[in-house]
Amino acid sequence: MADAEMISFPIVVSGASGVGKTTLCHGLMEKMSRLAFSISATTREARHTEEHGRDYFFISTDEFERMKAEGELAEWAHVHGESYGTPRVWLDGQMAKGTSILLDIDVQGGVQIMEAYPDAVSIFIVPPSWQEIEKRLRGRKSDSEEAIEQRLQNAIEEMEYIVKYGYVVANDTVEDAVARMEHIVRAERLRRDRVLKGITWRDYIGLDGKGV
Ligand code: 5GP
Repeated sequence: MADAEMISFPIVVSGASGVGKTTLCHGLMEKMSRLAFSISATTREARHTEEHGRDYFFISTDEFERMKAEGELAEWAHVHGESYGTPRVWLDGQMAKGTSILLDIDVQGGVQIMEAYPDAVSIFIVPPSWQEIEKRLRGRKSDSEEAIEQRLQNAIEEMEYIVKYGYVVANDTVEDAVARMEHIVRAERLRRDRVLKGITWRDYIGLDGKGV
């Protein structure tokens, strides 16, 4: 490691559908530098507020299968009947430049990233109450009743994965939850095993950018 500012890692953010992960990830990016959002590929239809290349890469099933077969996805999973995956090239490219990557992904994908990147940070977002999850899912008017019911059922199963995650953040208010995530990322950037990776303390005290 040539520079303390080059410390980077994947940050997996998971939690039951509707818990507000995407809002929190965007809130965190506004507060911190050297942090970017992973844009996933998915076979699901775009919601009317979403844009190709900004929220997701909306692709066909054939294209998704091709990316999977050619090893272009760092992880992938079937969620709510559709396929989702993380393009590997951007993830690795950004991290090589010292940017940590936020991955708003489901628990199956989260576990795959933790296995492939042992230095990944994992955060599980929990709702302030179960009623809140239901309210949020229903508030997203673009989904059908059937889709909402499926998401609620999946949410119960997803909660069980909490034990695989390193950190737990309650999303009671966006501001407080983002502040908690910020503390996690700042502390992780100061871990001894990251800052002294491949260098001695003598090298480290001579480096710039230690105030990360
Ligand atoms: P939505 O369709 O509501 O945008 O997302 C549904 C679920 O898929 C969410 O839990 C979201 O975190 C997850 N998801 C989004 N992108 C990916 C991805 O690239 N990989 C995996 N495994 N899950 C994803």
